[in-house]
Amino acid sequence: MSAKIEASCHCGTIKLQVAEKPERLTSCNCSICRRLGTLWAYYHPNQVAFVSGQGTTVPYIQGERTLAIHHCSTCGCVTHWESIQEEYKDRMGVNARLMKPDEIADIPVRRFDGADTWTYLD
Ligand SMILES: [Zn+2]
Repeated sequence: MSAKIEASCHCGTIKLQVAEKPERLTSCNCSICRRLGTLWAYYHPNQVAFVSGQGTTVPYIQGERTLAIHHCSTCGCVTHWESIQEEYKDRMGVNARLMKPDEIADIPVRRFDGADTWTYLD
């Protein structure tokens, strides 16, 4: 059984392979996600493998936040976020916008109110 899905940035420098198709995607309205237009699929970091480009992405860390959001240094596509705090190291987000649209078309998208209540709105 192979349900692996690949996520690639526009120029192809960064390719991530996730172990399984996500069951849901998250659209977050927080100050950074709404600007980036990302659609997050959450994984344990060991479910995500770099096919190419590991170590070449550029991190962005919001002021007091616990995450680093990475993008491709060539084409600018946001690829993933990773925790920069030990206690959250078991979680990672992959930008599903980089997955092939027909592979994720049937996955429900949940709206997360990261801007205010920190809960799902549906
Ligand atoms: Zn790129």
